[in-house]
Amino acid sequence: MLISSCCFLDEELKSEVENEFTHSDQICDVCGIRGNLIKIDHFAEFFVCIVGLFKKDSSSQSTLIDIVQSKWHFFSNKLYGEVILSTIISEYGLSISVHDKVSFIDDIQYVIDIWKNIKNILTSKYRYFVDSDEIDKLDLITFDSSSYRILHKGDVLFRARITEEGKAKMTPKEMKCPPRNKSCAGRANPVGIPYLYLCQSIKTTFYEVHAGYLDNISVGRFRMIRDLNIIDFDFQLSPFPVFVDGGKDELLKQISKCEFLQEIRSDLSKPLTRYDTELEYVPTQWICEYCKINGADGISFTSSLDKTGVNYVLFDQNDAKCTKVTAHTIKKIDINE
Ligand SMILES: [Zn+2]
Repeated sequence: MLISSCCFLDEELKSEVENEFTHSDQICDVCGIRGNLIKIDHFAEFFVCIVGLFKKDSSSQSTLIDIVQSKWHFFSNKLYGEVILSTIISEYGLSISVHDKVSFIDDIQYVIDIWKNIKNILTSKYRYFVDSDEIDKLDLITFDSSSYRILHKGDVLFRARITEEGKAKMTPKEMKCPPRNKSCAGRANPVGIPYLYLCQSIKTTFYEVHAGYLDNISVGRFRMIRDLNIIDFDFQLSPFPVFVDGGKDELLKQISKCEFLQEIRSDLSKPLTRYDTELEYVPTQWICEYCKINGADGISFTSSLDKTGVNYVLFDQNDAKCTKVTAHTIKKIDINE
């Protein structure tokens, strides 16, 4: 079977076809588009490795093709993915089908469960001396310049507050964190230790302050005063180059790590509700403190309220300066289920 770069959405797989093709100007067996083609076998070892990350699990909600496509978006569409994976599965005689309900193999689940175990300990056993050995040993959060998302000196982020009654807008000073004695606990910060919560776009700040119709909002523009090392909990893995460079073991390790970060990200971005108790914040506060004591200046993660927005938390508010405040009134609300 010959396939084309059009079968793929993943940039790395696309460019592999365009660099290594063996047949030019022919019709792709999968998508039917004329172009440069390569034997499907070229990717067989890689996809065998991807399929090998999963085991059949009748209690799972998702099929193999659904998980693979939703996590990594390898294929232009689900149908092409089914054809390509099924062909490789049958050539290699693997005892799994693209429509089987699957979950991650135990090696990966073990890493995901590390976070679950830590959460359990923090909320029900110990609070201040919880072991991070497994995170350290497996290098699940990496503190080096190649792994950080860097916020550069001069970069601008935003923060909103509902404008106090009778004011046109808040002052730059009022846009900073509350003083220590008035600092409540948040998802990232413990009570009494304020962190600066910022967003990449002004729109995301409106969601984050739960702005309502006709609310007056002050938005502070914060400029970074130095380069900052940020732990990015949205870290997205591009599996193909990892496999080419490091083989199966490295891919397994990197995917486990990604899934671990993903678990934490979903806790960090859980929308606040009025029923939240401070106990729920303890695990994410702990992981932030873990990042802080290991030298990071802050963290970033996707907003759950604005899926395209990125949130930042800076551990020291003096790393950013509020240079300007603008006044906004909310005229339109999008309500999503
Ligand atoms: Zn194709």
